[in-house]
Amino acid sequence: MGKKDSKKTTKKDRYAFDKFGVNLVLHTIVPILKNRFGVKKHETLTVTDEPFVMLYNHVTDLDIVWIIDAFRTHMYCLASEHMVRFPIVGKIILWFFNPIIIKKGSTGTAAVMEIHRVIKAGHNVLMSPEGVRSGNGLTNPLVPATAAVLKKLRCNVVTVRIHGGYLTSPRWGKGIRRGEITIEKIAEYTKDDIAKMSAEEFEAHINEDIYEDAYAYNEKAKIPFKGKKLAEGIEAQLFMCPRCKKIGTIHSKNNSFFCDCGLSATMDEYGIIKGDDIPFDSVTKWDAWQSKELDNIDVTSDEFVVSSDNLTLFEINEHKETPVDTGKLTLTKNALTVNNTSIPMDEISGYSIVGFGKLLITTSGKHYYEISNKKVRYPGIMYIKLLAKIKEN
Ligand SMILES: [Zn+2]
Repeated sequence: MGKKDSKKTTKKDRYAFDKFGVNLVLHTIVPILKNRFGVKKHETLTVTDEPFVMLYNHVTDLDIVWIIDAFRTHMYCLASEHMVRFPIVGKIILWFFNPIIIKKGSTGTAAVMEIHRVIKAGHNVLMSPEGVRSGNGLTNPLVPATAAVLKKLRCNVVTVRIHGGYLTSPRWGKGIRRGEITIEKIAEYTKDDIAKMSAEEFEAHINEDIYEDAYAYNEKAKIPFKGKKLAEGIEAQLFMCPRCKKIGTIHSKNNSFFCDCGLSATMDEYGIIKGDDIPFDSVTKWDAWQSKELDNIDVTSDEFVVSSDNLTLFEINEHKETPVDTGKLTLTKNALTVNNTSIPMDEISGYSIVGFGKLLITTSGKHYYEISNKKVRYPGIMYIKLLAKIKEN
């Protein structure tokens, strides 16, 4: 067997081992994790015998664990490159789940080929078609072309919705708010069902199936999500103050958050925002308002500039971070700059966020960067929205 062949069959050869690894984790670490995150016990969910791709709304860092545990069926999951850089969780996922690794902000062609190979080998795949965790309480729309790619795979597709995940662990938050997470199977599409639908129709079905409105769900469920830092980190999501309309002036501590203008608010165990003259009682409503405000900014103007202090540009290579430059992050219509290092706009080929909302940038020269500082939370999501607006022009 040539070198190429042995590489091609690695995942198939490992299947028995991988299945054992996942089972081991399910019976040892997972019960402890489920208890910590408040994942509800329920009967094992069933699914077709045919190889399938399972899709879910991405809410906590450990969604794949909750879902595999709920179905007790082996699935190869997609993990973003940053996950395997986590010291402990990353190693557990890498060793026991043997994931298909995708670089965020890249086109993901290699990942699609890997999914195809896994399905053809008779195994299942678990993936979130959103790309990023929910920051505002709503499921993000599908990554473009996902439905078309799934159609080409010619396999069954199962959709799943995770309830209570956002209020347990919002993307911007720190720590866990223990309440209740439940897993619900929504639909199962056979390959024949999918073949009869256009990519657009299929996309609409998936978007609807995995769509979760965290606040609307909990308005009925009325589950308290208890924690001591309910609002901490919220400046990564709420980048604009409704009182002074300034950007990047919000800061947070424990269950409260403030703006330099004097605005003061708290978040309760239901994720509800309270305070004098606060026009929005949820992150969802606040985010809808600030996103609209961003739309009114003229990003084509020479005067357009937004910035965040004290950040480092890291180049990522082979799961390792190398610092390139440190200082103020600045976005203009021409470039994204950290201190003295600029990435020209026309070289930026991909952008995404990771963790609480740290920026990830891919360039046409195949460089891959993360902009972060362990001690600083900044609204990466705002830069993503503005980058998209600049690129549209
Ligand atoms: Zn303010």
